Amino acid sequence: MIPMSLAQVAAVMDGKLSETADPEAVVTGGVEFDSRKAGPGGLFLAIPGDKVDGHDFAAKAAAQGALATIATRPIDTPAVYVENGIDALTKLAKHVAAASKAQIIGVTGSNGKTSTKDLIGQLCADLGPTVATEGNFNNELGHPYTVCRVEPDTEYLVLELAARGLGHITQLCEIAPPTIGAVLNVGISHLDGFGSIETTAKAKSELPQFLGADDNVFLNADDPRVADMEAATAATAWRFGIREPAEITAADVDPRDGRHAFTLVTPDGEARVQLGLWGDHHIYNALAAAGVLWKLGQTTEKIAEGLSRAGRLSERRMDVFTRPDGTTVIDDSYNANPASMGAAVRTLGQLPTEGRRIAVLGLMADLEEQSETCHRRLGEQARDAGIDEVIAIGAGTEPIVDGADGVTATHVPDQAAAIALLQSRLRPGDAVLVKGSRYRTWDVADHLRAKED
Ligand code: ATP
Ligand code: MG
Repeated sequence: MIPMSLAQVAAVMDGKLSETADPEAVVTGGVEFDSRKAGPGGLFLAIPGDKVDGHDFAAKAAAQGALATIATRPIDTPAVYVENGIDALTKLAKHVAAASKAQIIGVTGSNGKTSTKDLIGQLCADLGPTVATEGNFNNELGHPYTVCRVEPDTEYLVLELAARGLGHITQLCEIAPPTIGAVLNVGISHLDGFGSIETTAKAKSELPQFLGADDNVFLNADDPRVADMEAATAATAWRFGIREPAEITAADVDPRDGRHAFTLVTPDGEARVQLGLWGDHHIYNALAAAGVLWKLGQTTEKIAEGLSRAGRLSERRMDVFTRPDGTTVIDDSYNANPASMGAAVRTLGQLPTEGRRIAVLGLMADLEEQSETCHRRLGEQARDAGIDEVIAIGAGTEPIVDGADGVTATHVPDQAAAIALLQSRLRPGDAVLVKGSRYRTWDVADHLRAKED
């Protein structure tokens, strides 16, 4: 964290130091809410959870060297007493962001935020000290937590901006104002929070709207809802994409084995990229990252090198591995919505295999009245991608089987049944995709992974 005395921390949080706390003590470590991570020079944020109350671990954090606990009820160890822990952390994050010299980069969109943020984070690290959102830690706790990780020498802060409703991205931007933004796409995801795709677009457009005249924003030229955001921003807008004219583009795209090669074209030059990531959707994420890095002054050659180096991103996302029996598995079971399901099924279709292509698909949650249509369309996409067999798991996924007309398609009630069916079907050399909304296909993925050794 940017060093601050405990007195300053208390002032910034509108909090009150306990008698036991030393106002002069300087906080140099970050803020942790998991007492196991709280350490010397840091702060411990006590969150009163449903099952465990962080306050019960304040003494442990203090014993490990934490200077104070941010607390909402009386404790015996040094404390900064506040009304609400997350609000206090947010105030601290605002202060840290304002005191930091880091360039702030914000990434939003319906799909690919984490992947793109990871790419930008990895490429920024070539330029200087970088802090990026860890994994998918993008919520009202994760966002300020990430900002508080900024050190005095941090030059780049890369933030995943997730919207769960209107106004949310604006709030996140106000905590740590980005000067470079990227909007990836607008798709059907988490419809329960938004109600319609128009509202989703409105929520994502809060990032370009927030940016000022000195700022820059990268917009997906091939997604009309994103391209239209150019009208809503005071920032200089740059386009990335493949089909429509764009400043940052991919030429001579070669699908190879599902990991694409392409020539990255920026206003400064061209260089060949060999993506280590699976699926054509990652071309867009790579182009968005390339735009940001180009704006930060990186050469096109170095950007291409960095993108070619990027390997597996976060867990359960397009994680492709081969089992000893020669079966190839795409574990993309982290989460699912229509756009990412379509991308994953296409990738399975492109995967080189001697055997058959089997898609094990779970429910795409939160689609409400669009659920049936979306699942049926997924079945059609699987058929069109050349998938040989579809296994649809659980209530709500029946329309996948109807859509996958002409393909061997089976509906099973649960993951155990899917595992049993797979066991009877899998032959060496087959390729399997596993994907569904949160946890709905994790057992299947874990089963395939356990047999990896
Ligand atoms: P979340 O909203 O869950 O945080 P996210 O926007 O951070 O998602 P990722 O975690 O990067 O997105 O990817 C989620 C899923 O979407 C993965 O299955 C991934 O393969 C797929 N995906 C990634 N980028 C794109 C893209 N540009 N278009 C469509 N699907 C994508
Ligand atoms: Mg994410």
